[in-house]
Amino acid sequence: MKLILLGPPGAGKGTQAKILTDRYNIPQISTGDILRAAVKDKTAMGIKAKEFMDSGALVPDEVVVGIVSDRLLDPDCTAGFILDGFPRTVPQAEALAATLSRMGRDLDKVISLEVDPEALVERLTGRRTCRECGAGYHISFDPPQKDGVCNLCGGELFHRDDDNEETIRKRLDVYLQQTAPLISFYERAGILSSLDGLRSIAEVEQEIQHLLQA
Ligand code: ADP
Ligand code: AMP
Repeated sequence: MKLILLGPPGAGKGTQAKILTDRYNIPQISTGDILRAAVKDKTAMGIKAKEFMDSGALVPDEVVVGIVSDRLLDPDCTAGFILDGFPRTVPQAEALAATLSRMGRDLDKVISLEVDPEALVERLTGRRTCRECGAGYHISFDPPQKDGVCNLCGGELFHRDDDNEETIRKRLDVYLQQTAPLISFYERAGILSSLDGLRSIAEVEQEIQHLLQA
């Protein structure tokens, strides 16, 4: 299965991608996670990306397109993949289409998670992520069993620097201006399904399951 999860920051893309990864045994490709790892390792790409990410702006298209084009060549993507946070602009979507076409592959579905902006602020200010294994939590909606500690690996949970209200609002503006046009882009391609992402994690999971079986 070759799938894109589309939606504003905090819509639940990463949460659902992790569930799908376990169910279908295909990788989650999160450009945000790959960029954060590069920032942490202080690679040339990470140093360049950091200022864009800290301010809530998008990293230049050529950087993320290069990341994804390379990642799709890895053997674990043969059976399929879940793109989470990519593409985020029309040029990125066009570059992805060209890359897949060169590989003789095609997307199966794009699932757009729709959530209103005020709910997103609450989701992102309450998001916590495991420093060790990347598992995601929410202090109210999906709390860990023990405060600040990952259920899965015992790692420390942290709050992302860009999940503060000012940067969140900037990221939401960027989403509306640069990413939302992808909804009609994929609608025209005939592969878009939209769902109400305001429902619980389990309900959204069920709805995605339903769409993938249709
Ligand atoms: P994205 O990857 O789209 O930025 P996440 O999957 O990281 O979003 O979710 C953002 C936050 O919202 C996390 O703290 C997550 O636990 C929580 N969350 C995800 N889906 C839901 C949901 N359906 N209802 C309530 N909270 C959710
Ligand atoms: P995310 O983890 O998806 O919320 O992404 C965090 C940040 O990484 C974004 O605010 C951007 O600065 C950067 N980023 C992630 N994916 C992309 C992308 N596809 N295009 C441009 N910037 C990205």
